[in-house]
Amino acid sequence: MSESAIPALSTWVEVPKNSDFTIYNLPFGVFKNKKLSPRIGIAIGDKIVDLSVLDQEGFFSSFFLPEGIFLKDSLNELIELGKTQTKKIRERVQQLLLAENEELRDHSARGKVMVNRKEAEMLLPVKIGDYTDFYSSIEHATNVGKMFRDPENALLPNWKHLPVGYHGRASSIVVSGTPIHRPKGQFKDPDMEKPAFGPSRRLDFELELAFITGKSTKLGDSVSTSEAEDYIFGFVLFNDWSARDIQAWEYVPLGPFLGKNFGSTISPWVVTLEAIEPFRVQGPSQDPEVLDYLKCENPHSFDIQLEVAIQPEGKSASKICTSNFKYMYWNIAQQLAHHTVNGCNINVGDMMASGTISGATEDSFGSMLELSWKGTRPVKLADGEERRFIEDGDTVIMKGFSEKDGIRVGFGEVSGQILPAKN
Ligand code: MN
Repeated sequence: MSESAIPALSTWVEVPKNSDFTIYNLPFGVFKNKKLSPRIGIAIGDKIVDLSVLDQEGFFSSFFLPEGIFLKDSLNELIELGKTQTKKIRERVQQLLLAENEELRDHSARGKVMVNRKEAEMLLPVKIGDYTDFYSSIEHATNVGKMFRDPENALLPNWKHLPVGYHGRASSIVVSGTPIHRPKGQFKDPDMEKPAFGPSRRLDFELELAFITGKSTKLGDSVSTSEAEDYIFGFVLFNDWSARDIQAWEYVPLGPFLGKNFGSTISPWVVTLEAIEPFRVQGPSQDPEVLDYLKCENPHSFDIQLEVAIQPEGKSASKICTSNFKYMYWNIAQQLAHHTVNGCNINVGDMMASGTISGATEDSFGSMLELSWKGTRPVKLADGEERRFIEDGDTVIMKGFSEKDGIRVGFGEVSGQILPAKN
C-alpha cells in the first residue's frame, strides 16, 4: 500500500458513476428551494445533506455549535468556527453516510435531511470580503508576454521572483448560472487613431481556481508558507471574465480595472482542503531560487484536472481546453505568504484566485486569448461554429475534478451565459 492510498469507503446514498460528489468529497454549499429558506448543506451524489435538519435532530449534539449555525445564507460564520470544528462536522457527515452506519440511514428524519440537488437553487457560498487575482501560471504569463510584448523576453523581470497579483472587485463575483451582460467600455486598437466606446469586441474567460480564506489575521501580521494552509478553507472553480480590448487600453500603469470588474463567476460547492489532500503533488521546480519567505518545506500543489467548454445558444457544447491545476508555477502557500508579507490583513471569506491556468500544449490554454492566439486562429466548435472570442448567447462551462485509484473528488461546474450589452 502506498502512503497516499485512500481508504475505500462506501455509502448508503446512491452516487451516480462519475459523480464529483462522492463520499470522499462532501463539499459545503448554501442552498434554498421552493419550500426551504437559505441554509447550509453538503453535497453527495444527486442529494444535499441539509445540515440544519441534522442539527435539529441532534446529530451534532456533542459539538456545542451556536444555535442556527446552518440556517445562514453564507458559510462565513460556519467557517469562522475554525478548521477543527468544520473538519469535525464534515467527518461526522461522512460517518453518517457510511453504508454500515444506521444512525441516519434508518432514521425517521432521513427524508427531510436528504434534499434533491436538482430542486435546489445554489446561492453564492460566501460573503466575499476582498478578492485578489494572481497571475501564477508561467505558461499563461509567457503566452501573454509573447503576444503583447517581446517574444524573446516574454516574462517581465519580477515574474519568477514573486507571485504577481492585483486587487479585484468582490461585489461582482456571482454564483454559477448567473448571466453576465457584455461589458461596454473604451478601447483603442493599435490601428485606431483615437479611443472608441462600445460593447467589448474581445470578451474572454479565464480558467481559474480560487481559494477561500478561513481564518483572519491582524493588520501587521504575516502568514508564513508553512502556516498558510491553516488559513485556507477550500476551493471553488473561478471564471474570471475578461474584456481584452478594454483591458489592453486601460491597464497602463495601474493594472486591470473595468476590463475585469464587470463580473466573475464561481462554482457553488466549496471543496475543502481536506478533500483534495490525496491529490497533493510536487509543483514545478522554481529556478532561480526564490527568496526565503517564499520557500516551502512541503508540496502545496494539487492534481486537479480542468476543462472548459463553449455552448453557443441552442447548440451543443464543445470542449475547447483541458488543463491541470498542478501546472501552476506559484502555489497557494506562496500566494498567501506573499499577500501578507507586508502586514496586509486577511479576513474569513476572502477569495484569492489563481490566475489563468494554462498548460504547455495549445489545447491546454486557459483563455480564448491564448487558444485563438489573439484572435488570429479561430477555435473550431461542433455544428460548424468557430470562435475567436465569446459571442452573445454563448455559455462557458468549466469543470474540475481529481481522480486516483478510482476515487473521484470534483467541483461540479461553473457556468455562465453572456447576454448582449445593456442599453
Ligand atoms: Mn484572472
